[in-house]
Amino acid sequence: MGRTKVKQTLRDVSLINKRVLMRVDFNVPLKGDAVADDTRIRAALPSIRYVLAQGGKLVLMSHLGRPDGKVVEAYRLDAVARHLSFLLGQEVLKIDDVIGERARATVEQLQPGQCMMLENLRFEPGEKANDHHFAQALATLADVYVNDAFGVSHRAHASVAAITQYLRPAVAGFLLEKELLYLQAAMQSPRRPFTAILGGSKVSDKIAVIEALIRKADNILIGGGMANTFLYAKGHNVGKSLLEADKAQLACHLMEVALAANVRLLLPQDVVVATEVKDGVDTQVVASDSIPSHQLALDIGPKTAMQFAKVIDQSALVVWNGPMGVFEIEAFAGGTRAIAQALAQSSARTIVGGGDSAAAINALGFAKQVDHISTGGGASLEMLEGKRLPGVESLSDK
Ligand code: ADP
Ligand code: MG
Repeated sequence: MGRTKVKQTLRDVSLINKRVLMRVDFNVPLKGDAVADDTRIRAALPSIRYVLAQGGKLVLMSHLGRPDGKVVEAYRLDAVARHLSFLLGQEVLKIDDVIGERARATVEQLQPGQCMMLENLRFEPGEKANDHHFAQALATLADVYVNDAFGVSHRAHASVAAITQYLRPAVAGFLLEKELLYLQAAMQSPRRPFTAILGGSKVSDKIAVIEALIRKADNILIGGGMANTFLYAKGHNVGKSLLEADKAQLACHLMEVALAANVRLLLPQDVVVATEVKDGVDTQVVASDSIPSHQLALDIGPKTAMQFAKVIDQSALVVWNGPMGVFEIEAFAGGTRAIAQALAQSSARTIVGGGDSAAAINALGFAKQVDHISTGGGASLEMLEGKRLPGVESLSDK
């Protein structure tokens, strides 16, 4: 991957008296007409507060759910705007239009330091279609474009991609900036030793990530369901475990690549097995080359956890994607907890990417002790694959 150009951020542009159109990811869970989890809203507060403090006239835009290009009452953004208003301690004027005359008229009345929110972007079919007319209509609402929605930046949608052709400067918000700072630096100029921990359910979901990391990392630690396919590729019986037999050859190839590149690739030496994926079931720890044929491997074992923790402790950079076991069930959460704890205690730069991995480290209570937890599941994986994201590439260069 070529080195990506450094992008302008909110700090690089003058905002006073400017109409600032900011794409945020307020795709939050709702319960009735209230916000059930406001993590994503809080994550955008630094950018929002900054624009308002600088005397900008802020116009926020987001999607919510999958209304498929038409108005769906349950996906209106009113509850989100009310919640933001509560967090900010100031009014957030919510309108029922995304584009058009009424939207423009409201924007025209905004005073410096005031904030409004457009209706759900995905009520308009042009959003997901990356439609240029729609993007142009959005662009006429403002003078400056800000992307602070990392979670959708891997999608070529009108509010993150096409719009940047019509509204410039196009700059990164603080949340996006932080994501880029950690994830790009990790992939482009990693501190060493660089350890990548990979887990989660399937090899097939992560092929591109494994291939990218195998060329960059010094150590690759593999756990979770995907480890079974590697164990199987080495000729071990994996019983009834989650297995992608058709990916065994690929797993062999990846192990050869690692060997040739002098990358240390570690598989579990022991695993936690059970006959069912269920709370309260009897579990057993077995060596990974002796998984009984009627059992499933559902977590890495304690020896593996200790070995992985030791590698983490000796690293300067650790990137983690994919839980080490079925962490949703306490009996199989031990491996994921041990790795989360090792990350928390490590002096290395520590980065967690992936939706379930972020959920796991939050649930286990170690979130505050890692350097960066990516807010974008799919987007963070694409960054780790070394892909360029449409919503990032199109921003103004420094
Ligand atoms: P992320 O969202 O962080 O990228 P994935 O979606 O790839 O992670 O994987 C998360 C899922 O993998 C979890 O739901 C977890 O239960 C499952 N998983 C982990 N280990 C195993 C295993 N040994 N067998 C079956 N499923 C597993
Ligand atoms: Mg997932």
